[in-house]
Amino acid sequence: MAPDDPSLEGLRTVFLEPIDVQGVLSVAAGESFRWQAHLRTVAAGECRRCLSPVATVVEDDVDVMFSSDPDLLDDPGVYEMPVNVVTLDLTTAIREETALRVPAFPLCRPDCKGFCPTCGADLNAGPCECTASGSTS
Ligand SMILES: [Zn+2]
Ligand SMILES: [Zn+2]
Repeated sequence: MAPDDPSLEGLRTVFLEPIDVQGVLSVAAGESFRWQAHLRTVAAGECRRCLSPVATVVEDDVDVMFSSDPDLLDDPGVYEMPVNVVTLDLTTAIREETALRVPAFPLCRPDCKGFCPTCGADLNAGPCECTASGSTS
């Protein structure tokens, strides 16, 4: 699925690479299908500490159900499927399952120091004057 696919509109995430999905659809009990897939993409984000751009690899296995049984639809892992469906539209599931896996608050690196809350200096570039003197007073 292309990063600018219309079905991804409305998500706040910018995707840097296409969403690559490979999966198997199998028949399950009671008018249902089970979709087991692996998805991978790269999402753009901002480091929550220093606001620098971060590219996050989003890669995970998906295991969801499609069903037209209303009793099953209360389960968040079950997508609604029209009765007597001929072709199953996976775009909603791909959109939702991908969005679920994009980290809301990425870090550019685990030890990012971010900005000084006092003077706003980028502490990754080195200690600012207030952290140098403020930590001792
Ligand atoms: Zn950062
Ligand atoms: Zn400072």
